[in-house]
Amino acid sequence: MSTWTEVPEGSPFPATNLPYGVFSYDGEAPRVGVALGGDVLDLAPLAAAEGLDGGHVFESPSLNPFLAMGRPAWSAVRSWLVELLEHEGYRDLVESHLVPQSEVTLQLPFEVADYVDFYSSQHHAENVGRIFRPDAEALTPNWKHLPIGYHGRAGTVVVSGTEVVRPSGQRKPPDADSPSYGPSVRLDIEAEVGFVVGVPSPQGVAVPTSDFRQHVFGACLVNDWSARDLQAWEYVPLGPFLGKSFATSVSPWVVPLDALLEARVAGPAQEPAVLGYLERQADWGLDLSLEISWNGTVVSRPPFAGMYWTPDQQLAHLTVNGASLRTGDLYASGTVSGPESGQRGSFLELSWNGTEPVTLADGSTRTFLEDGDEVSVTAWAPGADGTRIGFGAVTGRVLPARP
Ligand code: MN
Repeated sequence: MSTWTEVPEGSPFPATNLPYGVFSYDGEAPRVGVALGGDVLDLAPLAAAEGLDGGHVFESPSLNPFLAMGRPAWSAVRSWLVELLEHEGYRDLVESHLVPQSEVTLQLPFEVADYVDFYSSQHHAENVGRIFRPDAEALTPNWKHLPIGYHGRAGTVVVSGTEVVRPSGQRKPPDADSPSYGPSVRLDIEAEVGFVVGVPSPQGVAVPTSDFRQHVFGACLVNDWSARDLQAWEYVPLGPFLGKSFATSVSPWVVPLDALLEARVAGPAQEPAVLGYLERQADWGLDLSLEISWNGTVVSRPPFAGMYWTPDQQLAHLTVNGASLRTGDLYASGTVSGPESGQRGSFLELSWNGTEPVTLADGSTRTFLEDGDEVSVTAWAPGADGTRIGFGAVTGRVLPARP
């Protein structure tokens, strides 16, 4: 697209991105905006001024009403925005509805309905298998036949910037005779990509891989905070519970799939062949480059393109039993880890279960998170016209456990 906008080189939010979020400004009610360079485009008054059909959805304090409108409306609004940004004649109007991001507070962008977390990086699954089950096969027998996942806690999904209190709970180290209670001593992160459902599906009806784009609006960044000591003791046989449910952070901007079309890649070849309902009908691997910073030091650069299970397959799997989709459902990819040691998406893997400390720029070393530590995950993707599409960041700081 040609545009009159003058977004600085290197901004995550060029006019080819147009991610949606919810912002509050100057004491006014939170409402929907689109990130453009260093500004937020205030959609509600702009849509009202232009008489945009359905534009009232942008007055909402969440993206859900817009998400529920579905693919034709998402495309129509995007085309409308592109037209405004292409034609110089709209410049004054648009500029009158730009607010500097430095003056707004970004809110949780959508009301999370259900939250599912997958486990779809083969490198991550193999690393975890080697760490926790050194005498067994790294991958469980089901791993290449279905995208393994669990249901997380939607109510504790928080927006980037929200501080995370260190969780307390039960743990039992292997050499201890009995469990004890206290603050987690192995608090970790998981760098992931989340997919946001807009259009619901009826209960009892499976959603095929080919309908991915009709249901899923876009993607965001997810940090699945994980208390490894709590998790290790509680997870057999039903899976993650309190070691995960205390907090999950998401980035404030949801990048539309329409902004990620240039980032599509074929997912890895799958052998053995998957069952029919999991067969891919289109390329929905995504060439996203993640970066993890620990107190400002970049400690890992996980590549998303190699994820074994792609989001269209995850969607088909999570509905194949007839489970319905709801507007605002969030499903996360699972920890994104690549084949190299500098591409691991969790500190469990980066420190190899605490045996290989990570050195930060200030000379200090880490295995798991200390109180006061801050973690930030960012991501970039190739965009249209040679631009780069940024996801912004999901950032969080650890507060001490409550007494
Ligand atoms: Mn996870």
